[in-house]
Formats: sequence, structure tokens, C-alpha cells
Amino acid sequence: MDGAAIGRAQHFIGNRWVPAAGGQTLDVLDPSDGAPFARIARGEATDVDAAVAAARRAYGAHGEGAWGRTSAVERGRFLMRLAQRVLECEEELARLESRCTGKPLKQGRADARALARYFEYYAGAADKLHGQTLPYTPGMTVLTLREPHGVTGHIIPWNYPMQIFGRSVGAALAAGNACVVKPAEDACLSLLRVAEMAAEAGLPEGALNIVTGFGHEAGAALAAHGGIDHISFTGSPVTGTAVAQAAARHHCPVTLELGGKSPQLVFADAALDEVVPVVVNAIVQNAGQTCSAGSRLLVERAVYEPLLERVGAAIAALRVGPALADLDVGPLIRRSQLQRVWDYLSQAQADGIEVVAAGSVVDSAPQEGFYQAPTLLRDVPRGHRIAQEEIFGPVLAALPFDGEDEALAIANGTPFGLVAGVWTQDGARQMRLARNLRCGQVFINNYGAGGGIELPFGGVKSSGYGREKGFEALLGFTTLKTIAIRHG
Ligand code: ADP
Repeated sequence: MDGAAIGRAQHFIGNRWVPAAGGQTLDVLDPSDGAPFARIARGEATDVDAAVAAARRAYGAHGEGAWGRTSAVERGRFLMRLAQRVLECEEELARLESRCTGKPLKQGRADARALARYFEYYAGAADKLHGQTLPYTPGMTVLTLREPHGVTGHIIPWNYPMQIFGRSVGAALAAGNACVVKPAEDACLSLLRVAEMAAEAGLPEGALNIVTGFGHEAGAALAAHGGIDHISFTGSPVTGTAVAQAAARHHCPVTLELGGKSPQLVFADAALDEVVPVVVNAIVQNAGQTCSAGSRLLVERAVYEPLLERVGAAIAALRVGPALADLDVGPLIRRSQLQRVWDYLSQAQADGIEVVAAGSVVDSAPQEGFYQAPTLLRDVPRGHRIAQEEIFGPVLAALPFDGEDEALAIANGTPFGLVAGVWTQDGARQMRLARNLRCGQVFINNYGAGGGIELPFGGVKSSGYGREKGFEALLGFTTLKTIAIRHG
């Protein structure tokens, strides 16, 4: 474990460690035992000003700064060096991530490897991003340039700090932007360490800056900052709305990824053996604190009982414990999140919703940790809060359906639209549903919670707008300029 990263309590601005201008710090709690184990700087508007100024110097007013002048191929080479460094430090980063978030160490390691993979992917893409020449009138040539926005802001949540940093900052840097990052107050140590590695890998001063602190202080200051040219936000719908409103005041474009209530549709002809482990993983990975968690299980009535029995048995076998014990499921991020899940479960109980099965918290788990056993609920009415709202915990709501039309109506019948899984051998039905589901990603006979660096990801409706991951994300981190030349 990197003691320096844990105890330093400073921002990373212009390739230097900088204390909060106001001198204040915050404790970071370990969700596995509820005790403080690290301190971070409590950033405010002044710190954000300093980070934005550093980023602006790196980019320049119109791309003339040290980073703004760096060629696409050199940006790609830098990202490849950083990917290599991340892989060398996988264990250190995984432990920092698991300690802060509570996720089992194997997930922390997977997240570190995913971070490296994002950097690799965008390293390779950096010099393949280009504009077009367009047919126009005789005597004129028209071309488009894909230009960086300039200074981009990145507000990152606590559930997958490294992965979300990778997909957002990796793409932004590849496209040539200078970045200011506000990670979540609960989980930012891994990202501070990655920023330090970026400096070691040769990133010019100010191209990547991290300001830590509370969302309503540092985060709000970043969203409202007039010097930011684009913001990408991943988090809750309420905060996303506040960020978009603040950004709108200075006409700053925003990408929002706001979570979901993603359904898995299982038809009677599905290969149930294949369905069970995927359905279970999709809700318990990261203790259900995944934007794309498969939190609704819609099952055709003919196989409802047998599937519930099997999913229930798999959930009952899950063991929950401290992150570093590396069991199936870790604690939730914080006490308020645990309370939120308890509130949903008490409401379910009060409304007579039956629990099919629950996993168990191991005896050795500290009493003060934020543990919640994964829970499968059955016959949840489709309009009930449990079937409509994002719980962000390991709670799976099962509902039976009769026929494809009803499955589709239930699947589309929430305010969200992020991901859906469809399990059937019928090719025509696969295609019909893939086209009719209102969401950003559809998986047929598989489900990709958390994965897919190459696959564009994002939502519709209350799940947000804009796309991250894949090549598509690069386009979002650029603005298009049209040049029309009259030459006769
Ligand atoms: P949660 O409530 O689970 O922490 P949020 O969506 O509020 O989820 O947090 C996601 C990210 O947004 C975090 O980095 C958080 O600090 C930040 N944040 C929270 N409130 C604001 C705000 N008003 N403006 C900008 N960022 C914010």
C-alpha cells in the first residue's frame, strides 16, 4: 500500500502536490470497518481555479500550450507508457481502490487492468481521429477538423473510480484536451496515484489535474467554472441535473451517465445454465453499485419458478466480507448507502414482497463495516419503487411476464434506459427486442456489466446522454470545425 498517497492530503495540480488553499482536509473511511484510514484535501473554488488555470496553460488559449502542441502520435505514446506503468503497479492500485470502495481485491485488480486497457485503446486511437472533406460547390473545397474542446472537466463517482477515469480522461487526453478531475470524496486515492504516474510518464505540467473534496464544494465549482469547455459527469440523476444546469449557464457541453434500472429478459427457450451465473454477477458485482447493474430479472412465466430457484440458490451461496478478504461481495461504500438499501428492503417487507434468498455476511466482518447481503425479491409489482428506482445495492427484483409484448413493456417501463440483456435462442425475437428496447446497450445471450472498453456506452431518458467508451467517446471530446475554401 502506498503510504504516501494515503497520508498526503493534497491535490495534484500542474504535476505537483498542492495543499488545499483553505488548508482543510477530509477523512476517508474504509467501508470494510467504517474507520478513517486516509485524509484528502478539501478543495474549494480557489483550488478549482488553480487547476483550471494550470490546464489552460497546458492547452493554451488556442492549442499553443505544451500539451496543446503535442502531436496525436505523441499523445498516443504517452498514454501507452502510462498504460504500462499502471500494469506494473496493478497490485498497489488495486489495493488502494479496494480499500476506498470496499470492492473485493479481485475486482480492484480487474479495474486496474481495465484502466490500463482504456489507456491502450485510446493510445491507439489518438492518431486515427480526423475530419473529412465534403462535397460542395465547384470551385470550393470544404473540410472538417476534429479539434479538442480545450479544458475538460471530469466529475467521477466512487463506484469505479479507475474505470471511469480511464474511459473519460483517457479519451479526453487522446483527443488533445487538458483535464481537471474531481473524483468522489469517498474514493480518490487510486486516481491521485495515477496522476502522479502520468507526470512520471512525461505528461506536460497541467495536462492532468486532480482536485479532491466534496461534490457541493469542489464539484459544484468545477461545473460552474467559466474556464471549462466540456464536462463529463457520471453519478446520480439529481447531481447530474445540477451539473448540467450549472454548465448551461456558461454554455458548456455536458456528457451525463446517470445510471439505470437495467432489465434482463429471460425467455422460456433460454439456456438457463448460462443465464444463472451471468444474472447473478450482473447484480452482485461491486455489491450492486454499478450503473449498468442488471437489477430487474424479467422471466417468462413457464421458466419463472425453476429460474428463481436456481438464481436463489446461487445468491444464497454468496459470502460478503471485507474488501481485502476478497470474497464474493464487499461492503457498500458508506453508511448512508447502506441505510438507503435498508429503506428499500423495509418497504418491500412492509408491502409483502417476498424474499426468495439472501447471501450471508461472514462472521469475521467487522461490525462497523457497511455490509449488505445480496437479496433476491420475487413478484415485485412493476410499478413498485423496487422495480422502478435505482437502489444501487445488491438487490435483484424478479417479475414474471407473459409473452414478448409484455416483456418489452415492462423492460421499457421505467424512467431509465441504460442497458438490457435478452436471453432467447429465437433470432427474430433477439433482433426485434434489440431494436425496440429503449436503452444504450443491448446484450443478447450475455450481459456486460462493467466491461467492454471498445463498446460505446451511455443511456437514453433519465440514464443520461452522450456516449463514453469506444471510439465514439473520442468524438464527444472534440468539437467539429468546418473550413470552406473558395479557390475557383
Ligand atoms: P453519490 O450521492 O452517491 O455520492 P453523486 O452523483 O452525488 O453520487 O456523486 C458523483 C460525483 O459528483 C462525486 O464526485 C461527487 O463529489 C460529485 N458531486 C456531488 N454533488 C455535486 C454538485 N452539486 N456539483 C458537482 N459535483 C457534485
